[in-house]
Amino acid sequence: MTTYMGECRGHLSITVHLKDSSYRPQLSSQSSQIEEDEEEIEEEEEKTAADFFLVAKANLEPLFRRCQDCGGLIDPISMEWIQIASALSVKFQCTECKVHFRWDSQSKKGTGKSQVFQLNQELPIAAFVTGTPFPRLLECCEVLGIATPKERTMRNAIRFYGSPAIDRVYEEWETDARVTSKAFAPQLIDDGFTVRMRVTDSNSMVDKRLRENPKLKDIEAQRDFWHVQKPLRKKWWKGMKMESCPTLAKWYKSFFNHLYHINSKYPKREDRPLALEYVRSFVKHCTGKHKWKKDEEFKLVDKCTHTVSRGLRKGPKRKIGGRNQKSLKECIKEDSEEYKLIYDMLFDEQFAKVFLACSAEAGTALCESFHSMSLLYSPKRFHCSAHYFNRKMKMSVMHHNSLVFGKIIGERVEVGDCLLPRKGRVAISVKRKMSKGTHPWRTEIIGQSWKLRDEYESNRFLKRIGAPDDDIFDVLMVEYGKMLRGEEGGHDEDEEYEWDSDISEEM
Ligand SMILES: [Zn+2]
Ligand SMILES: [Zn+2]
Repeated sequence: MTTYMGECRGHLSITVHLKDSSYRPQLSSQSSQIEEDEEEIEEEEEKTAADFFLVAKANLEPLFRRCQDCGGLIDPISMEWIQIASALSVKFQCTECKVHFRWDSQSKKGTGKSQVFQLNQELPIAAFVTGTPFPRLLECCEVLGIATPKERTMRNAIRFYGSPAIDRVYEEWETDARVTSKAFAPQLIDDGFTVRMRVTDSNSMVDKRLRENPKLKDIEAQRDFWHVQKPLRKKWWKGMKMESCPTLAKWYKSFFNHLYHINSKYPKREDRPLALEYVRSFVKHCTGKHKWKKDEEFKLVDKCTHTVSRGLRKGPKRKIGGRNQKSLKECIKEDSEEYKLIYDMLFDEQFAKVFLACSAEAGTALCESFHSMSLLYSPKRFHCSAHYFNRKMKMSVMHHNSLVFGKIIGERVEVGDCLLPRKGRVAISVKRKMSKGTHPWRTEIIGQSWKLRDEYESNRFLKRIGAPDDDIFDVLMVEYGKMLRGEEGGHDEDEEYEWDSDISEEM
């Protein structure tokens, strides 16, 4: 059982092309998209599929010149345009039939006095459940001149309707997830399990909390290997750019191959010091020495892991592409700048400490996907209280589960892939593009928010008519019922007596 805390983030620029084309990036396709004198077509006309449209007020005004009932002219002085957050209403009077009309751009939802225009509640909630920060949404609408609720109103909508709706929907989804996982791993759930080890990227704050928590402090802490090797790569990249290190780049690949190989070869805790020495033996190997005497630095290892000494390779030469391939790498000289760089890196005490604590079996990679979801809903640059953080994490869980579920039932498939150019140009990385996931929980939350509004309204209604908020009314009704059935008197005393005797028995 492993847990993951902390995070890492990268910035990638990506070109996506369809799966059936080869794995070659088509960099030119982007720039040539607009250059030819093709006319830009707006968008194809289609049957209306959406529920709401952006309508310009100027295009709306001509529609209110004549009465819709009798066709008479509308009195322009009676016209009154009213904006209610995202909705628009117009009141007018007909000069012929004298009737007052009112037209609304949206329909109202809710009951009694709690009715609101649909989007005034749904817009903030939809923004929240898609991880759109209100300031961004509001600014976007401001630029275009689109009517929206005020930020205060939007925050209230989340507070009173959004948050409890998320709680309710989450509970259903959580129950579903538990039932499903129980079906897959019945023993695990029934017998329970103990967390023996955790693998983290060693975020110091998270680690401190885990160490200080009496319930969690006994869990063995291990490090994620990816996060341990990453700083070394950065040092290599820096070194490879220096003129004083001309051969370093040629050793990059074999260094990291060696590092990964040794890490996965010695997963046991007791073998880690040996693994560390093997990793460090790279300083010997890269200078062309593959055997040496044990000393202060090498107490356990006195030769390389490989069998054939590379300098004096025997047997047939490897043929690549029909040509005899000479070794591309020159040895690194022991007094050179690059040697010093590799040496300092490997004999760094901090590196030794983290490498010894590395896990060879588990990593944080599986959690990174969930983690990117949590960043989507709760970006680090925005502060939010524990109350909202909790809701945002619930949404991340539902989002993540939906994606995983979509993959299981085959709804989400790979639609394309692209090459990622990498520094060092060693490995080619392919980024997979998956089809969009479906997120029914979002619409469920909006639905729940309306149910909540109705529930609140019925409570508010009772308050408005002065109904007592304790159970005195129910008690009186029971008494009234008894009275009608002629059960008055005596009975209460009996109950009291029984109650007394119960107490004395217990004592
Ligand atoms: Zn009329
Ligand atoms: Zn060697």
